[in-house]
Amino acid sequence: MTRVRRPGKIVCVGRNYLAHAEELGNVVPERPLLFLKPPSAVVYHGEPIILPTQSQRVEHEGEIGVVIGATLRHIDQAQAAAGIAGITCVNDVTARDLQRTDQQWTRAKGFDTFCPMGPRVVPLEALPPLGELEVVCRVNGATRQHGHARDMAFDIPTLVAYISTIMTLEPGDLVATGTPAGVGPLMAGDQVEVEIPDVGLLRNPVREARA
Ligand code: ZN
Repeated sequence: MTRVRRPGKIVCVGRNYLAHAEELGNVVPERPLLFLKPPSAVVYHGEPIILPTQSQRVEHEGEIGVVIGATLRHIDQAQAAAGIAGITCVNDVTARDLQRTDQQWTRAKGFDTFCPMGPRVVPLEALPPLGELEVVCRVNGATRQHGHARDMAFDIPTLVAYISTIMTLEPGDLVATGTPAGVGPLMAGDQVEVEIPDVGLLRNPVREARA
């Protein structure tokens, strides 16, 4: 088990589950759709998600997080598992209204506190095979999302290998592998949880921004 720490970069994957792509009126792309979140967005277990005043619609995206354990450049899928330090829970918090109105997603995905991660990083040896991982997202105890890695359009080794052909992945980098169906709003006072069985449970309260 490894302590969770702030990644050097956070590479996210959009529309990686068919049912989620469809719920937002999108299709699964031909190749992984990548975007970045800034490391300054990271918060840990128990720390609040702050609702920015610029958005009227902030949503949770529970995801399986892959923490990189080696320097990876132009690797193939068969080499990916050896380069993974472990798995952690991620909440790819998103200002959905700003994602729709902006040409790209830096603002919608990049606010401070919009990347809860943790509570720990669990190595692959301690987990079931990558394809058997699942992720659950609850708000105030009610299940909103429940996804299975086997339903990803692009599986974890494919994602890590593909990203490594674009940018060098470095130890500590985080890959957020996309969210399953069921995204929905977060309100001040909510408690949001992302749980990956055998990995852990990441819980964060949601707060209004203070003026
Ligand atoms: Zn996401």
